[in-house]
Amino acid sequence: MKIDPTLPAAAGGGATSSAAAAANPLLQPWTAPHGLPPFAAIRPEHFEPALLEAMRVHRAELAAIAHESAPADFGNTVAAFDRSGALLDRVAATFGVLNASATSEALQAVQRVLAAPLAAHRNAVYMDAALFARVDALHGRRGSLGLDAQALRLLERVHLDFVRSGAQLQGAQQHRYAAVMEELAALTTRFAQNVLHDESSYVLPLPDAAATAGLPPFVLDAARRAAAERGLPGAVITLSRSLVVPFLTYSTRRDLREQAWRAWVGRGEHAGEHDNRELVRAILRLRREQAALMGCASYADHALVDTMAGSRAAVAALLDEVWPRALVAVQREEALLEEVRRAAAATGEPGAEGRLEPWDWRFWAERVRRERFAVDDAEVKPYFQLDNVVAAAFDCAQRLFGLRFTPRDDLPVYHPDVKAYEVHDGAGALVGLFLQDNFARATKRSGAWMSSLRWQRRNLAGAAAAVAGATHEGLPIILNNNNFARGEPTLLSLDDARTLFHEFGHGLHGLLSNVTYGRLSGTQVLRDFVELPSQIFEHWITEPEVLQRHARHHRTGEPIPAALVERLARARRFNQGYETVRYTGSAITDMAVHSLTEAEPPADLCAFEHELLVARGLPHAAGVNHRFVHFQHLFASSGYAAGYYVYLWAEVLDADGYDAFAEAGGPFDGAVARRLHQHIYSSGNSVDPGAAYRAFRGRDASVTPLLRKRGLLADEPA
Ligand SMILES: [Zn+2]
Repeated sequence: MKIDPTLPAAAGGGATSSAAAAANPLLQPWTAPHGLPPFAAIRPEHFEPALLEAMRVHRAELAAIAHESAPADFGNTVAAFDRSGALLDRVAATFGVLNASATSEALQAVQRVLAAPLAAHRNAVYMDAALFARVDALHGRRGSLGLDAQALRLLERVHLDFVRSGAQLQGAQQHRYAAVMEELAALTTRFAQNVLHDESSYVLPLPDAAATAGLPPFVLDAARRAAAERGLPGAVITLSRSLVVPFLTYSTRRDLREQAWRAWVGRGEHAGEHDNRELVRAILRLRREQAALMGCASYADHALVDTMAGSRAAVAALLDEVWPRALVAVQREEALLEEVRRAAAATGEPGAEGRLEPWDWRFWAERVRRERFAVDDAEVKPYFQLDNVVAAAFDCAQRLFGLRFTPRDDLPVYHPDVKAYEVHDGAGALVGLFLQDNFARATKRSGAWMSSLRWQRRNLAGAAAAVAGATHEGLPIILNNNNFARGEPTLLSLDDARTLFHEFGHGLHGLLSNVTYGRLSGTQVLRDFVELPSQIFEHWITEPEVLQRHARHHRTGEPIPAALVERLARARRFNQGYETVRYTGSAITDMAVHSLTEAEPPADLCAFEHELLVARGLPHAAGVNHRFVHFQHLFASSGYAAGYYVYLWAEVLDADGYDAFAEAGGPFDGAVARRLHQHIYSSGNSVDPGAAYRAFRGRDASVTPLLRKRGLLADEPA
């Protein structure tokens, strides 16, 4: 559920040298509708020369800004900087999209080769002394430049980008900082590729009926399809979350559940060329050095400067508010699970004996859900056909924000699974393109995420600006990726449907962006604010009137029965202790490991995370959630390092914010929707996030709605 970090976004032109461009579709004008990439013509070998050329063009653009003879002003320096690098942005964004969603050995090889040069380019941009001197001079007298609020915000943002990238370091320190950033880029790339290797190479074969015992048809279908996609007979479980989680939930074969669980939590932890254990230590060592060069005692201190939370103490205060309450809830849940398990053991049910293990939790939780709350995922899923859930998301976006999504099956996309839409606003104006890629594939990263091929912006280079109304240059192209197991038809769990709404919320944050400068556009906000637009959108999927309209049985077309909706609502808080403990546990280990001040990380990080969570009271059967060796949020890039807490931080905002609709009388209240649109979804990073929230809500957020939503308030039963 993450946002793809991309290079700094900007618009602008820049001539390419004809030799390099001659046979390379990436360097020729992109003539597809709306300026989409020429996907059909792109080959992996086009990227290295195109990216090298795009970096050269960007350097030339920046040299022109840095050595401009006129004295620095906002237009010739800051706005020009914001426009620069358009060619690099679009080639790098295309490269990122293909590597995440349709990768290959050849693309991964290019990624390994170019990780360090791309990081070096970023260093060269932000350590350019002449360029920084102009930005720094303007920043020093920013109060007297007569800038409007957004221009001032851009100047402050750009200045901070320079400072945090080492622009103020001198001599050897700056050289070392650059080297550290390049090494980090190479190591995080290898980390991600190792996880993908482990995920795509493992299968658990289910050769016969004995091996598939307990699996409902939708899991069995998905397992057969996964086997067929890999040219294997029968059915297999892969480490795709959309397969392994249902398997752990339904399989009555405790021995196979244990095998699948061990493979899942063991990703990245094994000797050989795909071992992530030493890689994680190397990354931590370099981050600690990066922080030290910036004058911070730990990486967390450095990372948190540029966040809403602002400090480790503020993050710890939130985690400590939630953790003990979640422990109480998970212990209550474990008692329920144990009761049901012991009753089954008394009847001699195989697999019910012995103590509760991590690979048992989901299985017995499902039994409790069925027996105590009369809710069974297999009963719920027929009402959540993928196409209907997509239609529900579009319908909510129309009712809230006036958007219309029109399929454009003729547009060029990178894989047949991808669906393309033109998005128009209530007045009929085109506001962007939306590409949705919903299915798991062996060539695709796990998880769900939003990314962008182009950000919304109005600060365009001369020719494009002159015809801004008739060009695609400032038009956002936004992508959503999910990893659903394909079925006939594809049926989602309620959790899957919520994930789709979550990513769609990020998508709306990109599509509804309405700012002048590319650097301030869309989801490029402070990272503990970025999950607010996504998480608040999740609320609508469980609104009764949305369910009534869109949650229809895939065979009969009947809406989901009101009684089932009511049972779902009652069951909602069950297992929230488990989910909260696992999530918060990951946030705690993230903060702990990135708060270390010693130059040398612990020798055994697997033991470090385990001992930390045991000391904090994690029940054995809950199991560790994301272990460092495959924790992509922390180590596949630096985007969420010392930042896994951001989901909880934003949940304080989304739980409190969604209450505004209830207070106003309904989930589609027009006035609240308009404020949400204007202050949260459209403003990007053009205003301070705290101020944006207050403009929407009329006050600061309270933590109580979050605790209530998760059933963690002491006076309310689960
Ligand atoms: Zn997210």
